[in-house]
Amino acid sequence: MKTRRDFLIGTATAVSIGLMQSNTILSALSPDTAYTLPMLPYSYDALDKYIDKTTMEIHHSKHHAAYVSNLNKLVTGLTVPSDIVKLMPLIAMLPQDKQTAIRNNGGGHYNHTMFWEIMAPEGVGGSLSGKLAEAINSQFGNMEKFTELFNNAALSRFGSGWVWLYEKNNKLMIGSTANQDNPLMEEKISGINGKPILCLDVWEHAYYLKYQNRRIEYVKAWWNIVNWKKAEENFLNG
Ligand code: MN
Repeated sequence: MKTRRDFLIGTATAVSIGLMQSNTILSALSPDTAYTLPMLPYSYDALDKYIDKTTMEIHHSKHHAAYVSNLNKLVTGLTVPSDIVKLMPLIAMLPQDKQTAIRNNGGGHYNHTMFWEIMAPEGVGGSLSGKLAEAINSQFGNMEKFTELFNNAALSRFGSGWVWLYEKNNKLMIGSTANQDNPLMEEKISGINGKPILCLDVWEHAYYLKYQNRRIEYVKAWWNIVNWKKAEENFLNG
């Protein structure tokens, strides 16, 4: 039977854990820990056969750069984690008048950072193998079925958004999000929640110069430049 003392200790522990967590999560963002635009892990023309140099350059140095710059302005004066991964689940805890803008620009920063990393020049990212291959085959049957489901998700996302392979409760899932939402956000915000493994940008700015309205051609081409090593790393870590 629980005594009053047990109850008090229990409460005190819960309170201190709560404080510890919020202190860890909400470390102050100082100017030198502001969000920064990551360098691309390859040159702008490295994916040229499938995604042209101009698209890559504008996408990274204009679109992604703008998300980072807007985000830094938006969080000025707020106590938020300097790790963008840790910021994503906290959108609903932010001041209400800034939630939508931080969701869009913070999501834009996280999503593009991941997107650059899960692509690689043809031949460099390896092929689907190892534990991720086993999981994909066991979940979706085979690579062809998985690709078909992923492509369908890319085509059925109306307007701007992203397609994701993510893991939830030890199960691989394919899903899509609108705008710059992602599976690190709460499900009530983005519609899906889990650990991101692979992502594909289906905003027109990602493909319009080379493919115009032909999203499916862009999506099919993209499979040639997936960095499967990085995808497996995302699957095995975290
Ligand atoms: Mn984009």
